[in-house]
Amino acid sequence: MTNKDLANLIFPNIDKDIAYYENLYKPRDLKEGEKVTRFAPSPTGYMHLGGFYQAIIDFMLVKNSGGTFYLRNEDTDQQREVEGATKLIMDTLNHYGIVPNEYEYNGETVGNYGPYIQSERKEIYHAFIKHLIEIGRAYPCFCTKEELEELRGRQEARKFRTGYYGKWAKCRILPIEEQIKRIEEGCEYVIRFRSNGNFDRKFRFEDLVKGKLDLPENDEDFVIMKSNDKLPTYHFAHIVDDHLMHTTHVVRGEEWLSSLPKHLELFRAFEFKAPKYVHTPLLVKKEGNGVRKISKRKDPEASMTYYKEKGYPTLAVIESLMTIINSNYEMWHDQNPDKNFTDFEYSPKKMSASGAFYDLEKLDNISRNVISKMKATEVYDELLEWTKEYDEEFYKLLADNKEYSINLFNIEREQKKPRKDFVNYSTIKDNVWYMYKELFDKKEKEYDFKNITDKEEIKNICNTYIEKYYDINDDKDTWFNKVKELCDELGYASDMKAYKENPDNFKGNVADVSTAIRVAVTTSSMTPDLYEILKLLGVEEIKRRIELI
Ligand code: GLU
Repeated sequence: MTNKDLANLIFPNIDKDIAYYENLYKPRDLKEGEKVTRFAPSPTGYMHLGGFYQAIIDFMLVKNSGGTFYLRNEDTDQQREVEGATKLIMDTLNHYGIVPNEYEYNGETVGNYGPYIQSERKEIYHAFIKHLIEIGRAYPCFCTKEELEELRGRQEARKFRTGYYGKWAKCRILPIEEQIKRIEEGCEYVIRFRSNGNFDRKFRFEDLVKGKLDLPENDEDFVIMKSNDKLPTYHFAHIVDDHLMHTTHVVRGEEWLSSLPKHLELFRAFEFKAPKYVHTPLLVKKEGNGVRKISKRKDPEASMTYYKEKGYPTLAVIESLMTIINSNYEMWHDQNPDKNFTDFEYSPKKMSASGAFYDLEKLDNISRNVISKMKATEVYDELLEWTKEYDEEFYKLLADNKEYSINLFNIEREQKKPRKDFVNYSTIKDNVWYMYKELFDKKEKEYDFKNITDKEEIKNICNTYIEKYYDINDDKDTWFNKVKELCDELGYASDMKAYKENPDNFKGNVADVSTAIRVAVTTSSMTPDLYEILKLLGVEEIKRRIELI
């Protein structure tokens, strides 16, 4: 009996071989320097910030080279699979414009290298596993869970490295006759790779981020096919896929670096060329005096849904990641303020090799900048979209008052130093509520009066102002001159210099007076331009608000 008999017994219906698939998925027509990358998440129902950051790198590598960035659904661990998980991945990528060129979604396949869902590629994997069995590089293992636990216990007790390798790998030496007999008897088995490696020997490997590394060879006979559903493990499936889909660059988290020797040995066993690797550092955050990994369990910001719910502009989230993807991104951005992030040349060499700090405060700053550079109509459209999903009340107000809202968002915008008070869409309402009558009336108001606190005096200032001086058609200079005239009439200094020289001659100054008016109509002393605000509110509403203080 031969390996071939064993292979045929295990895969009686697999009649296609590696050559067949290689012929089916011909090399891509790539020009010099063009790259093929993939984003290969497992559909767990959760999209981690770290995964998205890798997808941006995949995207950036390809956009620079004109190659292909494809999405592969790694669903071989079907126990972990969650309904709607693929939708979440697709929606997130689409939302951010990090759109793959090839993918399979909702029954539609785009690209010539599919299926792009691993569970639909079972037959392909079986052909490749069959080949390994035929050449003696894979074998069935009948060890039960209990036997493996017992093995581990023995290794630990004797202070050996744990794992299924070398002399510990007892099924490795089962004669073919015995293997065939057990399979025919219906014994359960997994398929393991037969390693030729020596753990005490190191090999040199060059990662595009980490640089040159000396790694120990793999010597583990790791599982490549599971027993229950006959699906391959990640270690095996991704090798086959990256080969047949002609991936040139694998971007993945550094947690995979320790299994890289396994993957490289598999590539060698098949005599395939391995792709280049970009192992990205973990996203970390400061905590107290220390640093720790951003975790799904502890940090809401680990999930991509966080950013959507908070209403961060997509560009802000991408840029916050770009600053840690390449250390020179910020400088480049400052020097090229009008360019898009897609114009930036990403280089794995400029990526920090360990711990990438992700900082929400920085995201807020970037986001303020991004929003401050938008046109008012854009802010309106984006906010409308966000509120539609997350804030019904505000959505209605925005929809019913489109022009008014656009004018409001236009205050101190499109100028050299635009106002930067909007952090994200979920906080804009807190900044502008007083500009909407409905929100103003609903709110329990706290007036932030400053130097002038006497209500009667404030009312007097406001009433005199509105009755005698305010004209909605005034231009800004005329408007301000009239505020000064009001000051003169009521005993406040219209000229700051005069006030500073003789403060006792006045009840206060023009700044105090305009603050009193500002607070009376908005409750806040920190609003954007008062001239614009009064103009938007209109005389009737200003009068009504004066009555309310
Ligand atoms: N499916 C793997 C994961 O979700 C992907 C690793 C890779 O990109 O190769 O971690």
